[in-house]
Amino acid sequence: MYKIGFNKPYLTGKETHYIYDAVSTGKISGNGKYTKLCQSFFEDNYKIKKALLTTSCTDALEMAAILINIEPGDEVIIPSYTFVSTANAFVLRGAKIVFADSYENNPNIDATKIEALITSKTKAIVPVHYAGVACDMDLIMDIANRHNLFVIEDAAQAIDSYYKGAPLGSIGHLAAFSFHETKNIISGEGGLLAINDSQFIERAEIIWEKGTNRAAFWRGEVDKYNWVDIGSSFLPSEIVAAFLWAQLENLDNIQTKRKEIWKLYFDGLKVNPCCQMPSVPDYATNNAHMFYLVCKSLKERNDLISELKEKSIAAVFHYISLHESPYFKGKYEGDKLINCDNYSNCIIRLPMFFELNKVAQVKVINCVLNFYS
Ligand SMILES: *Cc1c(COP(=O)(O)O)cnc(C)c1O
Repeated sequence: MYKIGFNKPYLTGKETHYIYDAVSTGKISGNGKYTKLCQSFFEDNYKIKKALLTTSCTDALEMAAILINIEPGDEVIIPSYTFVSTANAFVLRGAKIVFADSYENNPNIDATKIEALITSKTKAIVPVHYAGVACDMDLIMDIANRHNLFVIEDAAQAIDSYYKGAPLGSIGHLAAFSFHETKNIISGEGGLLAINDSQFIERAEIIWEKGTNRAAFWRGEVDKYNWVDIGSSFLPSEIVAAFLWAQLENLDNIQTKRKEIWKLYFDGLKVNPCCQMPSVPDYATNNAHMFYLVCKSLKERNDLISELKEKSIAAVFHYISLHESPYFKGKYEGDKLINCDNYSNCIIRLPMFFELNKVAQVKVINCVLNFYS
């Protein structure tokens, strides 16, 4: 056990109250009161045309892949420096994944390199807003429009973050959020599909409800409830939605605190010239999802993790670039992705959670500064 852990899920205190309420009404399967409250929250606050709660961000991405009719042989462009689900959701439908490199000064997909990867088979671009910091969406949407491609934002880490004032998740045709316990707003496991192109709304509800028109049936729009398309069990129970509602109600409080923690790290560590600090482009906001540093080498990064571990501080690295993963390595045919490789080798993530106190944080900062002095 570490004295200073890496993550601790924060509970607002209302979660079990709302779960009790959901359970006592006797309606605990999905698409009830709490599901609607959570979905409306996203539609009202983040300019999303239609929001559908899902059991995970992974599921929301799988729904997106079905919605844009991915077929075997279709190509999808995604960054290699990301979580597996970004790619896996499309692989499940037979897509060929085409990996793009990250920027040199920012782990997001390098939008200037996308166009060269487009072929007659390309169907979609999936930008990932790493650490909740926006990708260059104007450039990505412009490329997509000119080539008739869909854009699906992987906004798993990007709740309450913005690109030139537009909420992340409201820009692409579709977007996917995560409420996994490691994210800013949590429900244990959980996610949300954001639909911004209204052509997808009707079919999304069907795919969400196991390929049936049950949602329309409950609204009285059709007189028979039937199997009408493919789909799966993508909607979570009201128990999950009730938990999530307690979190969303507290979003401002959670975000304010996380941003304070992030700023303390930034101010405390910017005096150290040895690491690359997280970069937030002018067009983007920071939602304080994570605090990372980019070390100079794999060895330096691993030594720093060991040094922190010796002081009982949990720091982690992540994302073996997907083109280097055991599953994909043998299939990868593209160019070297030097920036992705660099982030795989050199990123270190420091403890970052709501209840991280200042004393502990100063210990982490001093340990990093000592390592470099
Ligand atoms: C967390 C995460 C996911 C997966 O989210 P789940 O809700 O656990 O399925 C996908 N993409 C990125 C970038 C993530 O950080």
